[in-house]
Amino acid sequence: MAEQVVAAVRTGAHKTEFREYPMPDIPTDGALLKMEVAGICGTDVRFYADPPIADPVIMGHENIGYIAKAGRQFQERKKLKEGDLVFVEHYVPCFACEWCHKGEYRLCAATDWRNNPQALRYGYTSANRTPSLWGGFAQYMYLPWNAVLHKVPDSLSPELAGVATPMANGIQWALFDCKVGYDSSVLIQGPGQQGLSQVVACRQAGASLIIVTGTSKDLVRLDVARRLGADYVINVEEEEPLERIREVTGGAGVDVAPDCAAGGGVAPVLLGIHAHRSKSGTMLEQGNVTKIPALPIG
Ligand SMILES: [Zn+2]
Ligand SMILES: [Zn+2]
Repeated sequence: MAEQVVAAVRTGAHKTEFREYPMPDIPTDGALLKMEVAGICGTDVRFYADPPIADPVIMGHENIGYIAKAGRQFQERKKLKEGDLVFVEHYVPCFACEWCHKGEYRLCAATDWRNNPQALRYGYTSANRTPSLWGGFAQYMYLPWNAVLHKVPDSLSPELAGVATPMANGIQWALFDCKVGYDSSVLIQGPGQQGLSQVVACRQAGASLIIVTGTSKDLVRLDVARRLGADYVINVEEEEPLERIREVTGGAGVDVAPDCAAGGGVAPVLLGIHAHRSKSGTMLEQGNVTKIPALPIG
């Protein structure tokens, strides 16, 4: 094993440097992951352009790799051994707080990098924090006792397993948060990995109508949306989306509208509102928009 680990480090806006870090010593309750696949998602694009912290960061929070070295306690507790292929969640929670005890460990303060400068989260934590290897865009990643790991089944390739994070959002947002189910009609804005994962989750949950919107640069992805089960796709640059949505819903509008149009500004928010059935509906926003002028709350 090499003594140094090479990592692609974000050192500023739109700036990556290759840096070397010492191979960490592994405690009995920790492990080292040899990286295999790291996904890139919309937040990566946003934070590469506009870093939320000035410190150097090894990005990459959708990580799949092989356990390269694991302490004895780690192997016992995690039921994992060296050579196992695992999916690593980006949360590194405390497992002692109220959220953790509820099973909502993604809300734990110990992994909430937005509000807690000491928080640990893969892809977001400063590389100045020992032992530096807190992101997937590197040869190795460090796994403390509280890393959340899932063994990848033998039948799944590392590339497919790499979709676990957006797929998990598909399940969380569509099924748990928006209660998509039998006969739901859904408008999914944006055909990126998050939007496409919504399509899969909604189809599996029994939705009867799935509409996906995108722009001219999304034509290939809109085609993927169709193949994954979307009933209608709309290029919002070529068609008036609201008219088309009314047309395909017989004037009724949709039950649910998850907004997966990263960087789309206020337009998708307003379209989501207007595309709903007149008396009820559920809309999901990702918090990309900080202000909504003239929100039509009625
Ligand atoms: Zn992500
Ligand atoms: Zn906690």
